[in-house]
Amino acid sequence: MKQEQVLNFNAGPSALPEAVLQQAAEAIINYNNTGLSILSIPHRGDLFVAILEESKALVKELCGLSDDYEVMWLQGGGRLQFCMVPMNFLRQNETAGYIDSGHWAAEAIDAAKHYGTTGVLASSREDNYTHLPQWPESVDKGLRYLHFTTNNTIYGTQWPSIPASDVPLVADMSSDIFSMQRDYTNCAMFYAVAQKNLGAAGNTLVVVRKDFLERVHPGLPPMLDYKVHAEKNSLLNTPPVFGIYVSLLMLRWIKEKTIAVIEKENRAKAAMLYAEIERNALFHAAVDADSRSLMNVVFHGRSKEMEKQFLECCAGRGIVGIEGHRSVGAFRASLYNGMPLAGVEKLVSVMHEFEQSGG
Ligand code: PMP
Repeated sequence: MKQEQVLNFNAGPSALPEAVLQQAAEAIINYNNTGLSILSIPHRGDLFVAILEESKALVKELCGLSDDYEVMWLQGGGRLQFCMVPMNFLRQNETAGYIDSGHWAAEAIDAAKHYGTTGVLASSREDNYTHLPQWPESVDKGLRYLHFTTNNTIYGTQWPSIPASDVPLVADMSSDIFSMQRDYTNCAMFYAVAQKNLGAAGNTLVVVRKDFLERVHPGLPPMLDYKVHAEKNSLLNTPPVFGIYVSLLMLRWIKEKTIAVIEKENRAKAAMLYAEIERNALFHAAVDADSRSLMNVVFHGRSKEMEKQFLECCAGRGIVGIEGHRSVGAFRASLYNGMPLAGVEKLVSVMHEFEQSGG
């Protein structure tokens, strides 16, 4: 059995490593020679609790976190986190800081407005998010937290590091978690949907430092309360067992490969594609050079007609998922951890071939 027969540059759900797909496929028929399908094991039984515990331990190990942090798997995707963060940590008479660096950052701000005051400390919206905004030099220590998005999936910008912060830092790391070495301990909390670098759609990784968890407002409905989810070990309701297992397979794959090696490859993949975009007169990058993402490479063609022809050319070469987001247009190639260097080489060779054929 071969992995996907096409080269998949989709932004999420997106390409996963072949080894992970193989093991996930086997587990559906016969999980670890138990004679049971992973789809049918009870979520409170030993088999699943072992999966849960190993995944939590691996997250801590890969992030360099001590037992001061709680690791949870929740549902509802990034959008529920946009609501749960303010629901748990912000009240009507309080203010939280937000960095507005793209579509998802702005969605998080809109969601928080239902619960309290949002102070937008930096924004690049006026420039259509073609670069990162300036990180604020100082922040009011009275802010309940400061929320930012490490990688802007739609516009293709990425913060190079996680800064230290005087107020609790909350990071949406949905589209670049484990793609490079990061100082996770600068965060009071971070979260990431699984469907990009961490597995299949359906489960969301949520990590919260215990002292920050103590600030959760009392009286929330249990399903929306981080403290309850932590106390219940992510087993308040039936968790997405299969999704969490696929994430465990991803975490094992990342550990074996090491984040240092993954980062090196991600830098090589992105450098190769940006270099071709710069070289090839038919294309141009959408984002300023110092803000460019390693994960989502956003670029344009010379004309709408040419863009259409290039997409057709890619489809004919077995390349899918490089259409830009509907709000930006043109192209976006997502180079998550599961995309091998050979995949980027293929895309670059098709760009070259397209140029030679007269565009
Ligand atoms: N945050 C970021 C950075 C994302 O890229 C996305 C989805 N692409 C989300 C949040 C929203 O995730 P979901 O669709 O799972 O709610």
